[in-house]
Amino acid sequence: MSAEEDLRFLRNFQRLLDEGAFVSTYKFALLQALADLAVERNPQPDGRLPLPVTALAGKFIEYFWRQVLPYKDGKALAYNTGRQAAVVHRVREARAQYHGNLAEAQADAGAWSALEGEVARIIRTMPLWKLQTVGNQTVEFLYRKADYRDGQIILLPGVAAALRQFHGLLTHLIRGGWVTQVQRIAANRQILGDTTDLPSFLFGIERQALNRFRGVLREHQQGACFYCGRRVTNEGELDHFIPWARYPLDVGQNFVLAHGQCNNAKRDFLAALPHLERWRERNIDSTELARRLHDRELPSDGARALVVARWAYAQGASSRAQLWVQGREFRQVAAGWEQVLR
Ligand SMILES: [Zn+2]
Repeated sequence: MSAEEDLRFLRNFQRLLDEGAFVSTYKFALLQALADLAVERNPQPDGRLPLPVTALAGKFIEYFWRQVLPYKDGKALAYNTGRQAAVVHRVREARAQYHGNLAEAQADAGAWSALEGEVARIIRTMPLWKLQTVGNQTVEFLYRKADYRDGQIILLPGVAAALRQFHGLLTHLIRGGWVTQVQRIAANRQILGDTTDLPSFLFGIERQALNRFRGVLREHQQGACFYCGRRVTNEGELDHFIPWARYPLDVGQNFVLAHGQCNNAKRDFLAALPHLERWRERNIDSTELARRLHDRELPSDGARALVVARWAYAQGASSRAQLWVQGREFRQVAAGWEQVLR
């Protein structure tokens, strides 16, 4: 796309967020699902990207999985004005059935695809064909109703590329709107009070899951810091290897155990190539890690982590990002990452 087309795309996207008429937060979940799937899946040579509505449903379930938890004093938030959103009911039931364990729910293949099917039906009747309506206008710049068949929508040429390129910016916009919408729902005002942790509640990772990941990674790295190799004598910190700010990927393969000091120095930077090589070897190619995650029913998906890493380093290369080596040492992203991630 040309710079002008990029701008038009962003303007249209902004319009959906600002002017689209919605009483539920489905709009935000749908936009986030489109952006995430554009990163995780490759478009066709003609630039179009077919997406099954069940794949969008899978993303909805993931997003709402943590949002259905009680927010404060055992009270859950509403995600719709009026009646609670239907997806929330279904996800809450599934959460109870699998004791909150998403990986376990996903592993129960038959029940999971039935759940995806149900949520897909809700998406088809609710947000899918309303998303691109602003005022009395329909602006079909993402996908067209006329192209829908066999349970798939098709992102128009260039849309997947734009979603990939602007993923960080769009996520920021989507989440801002999402938080505001939740705050605006009258039923939530009392529950929210003057709390300030709503964004991390809506989009963060559950603390309990973090602790379980930490145990697995400590074992997998034999107690050593992933970045400097020295022993982690205290609790240590769990770092998102592909920074969470760039893409919120909460599968075990994207976590490493590190010293607080190393983790703080790395912040939201991508790691330099020696780290990347070691990550690939230990976390992606290692069946050992997958087995450990599987044994503890934690989310595990090496293929997805690799795809997201390729996207993140390609983004980094095109913006000439600095890669973090150690302490305050950085290196310009250089050719070579493609070899490591091929
Ligand atoms: Zn360290």
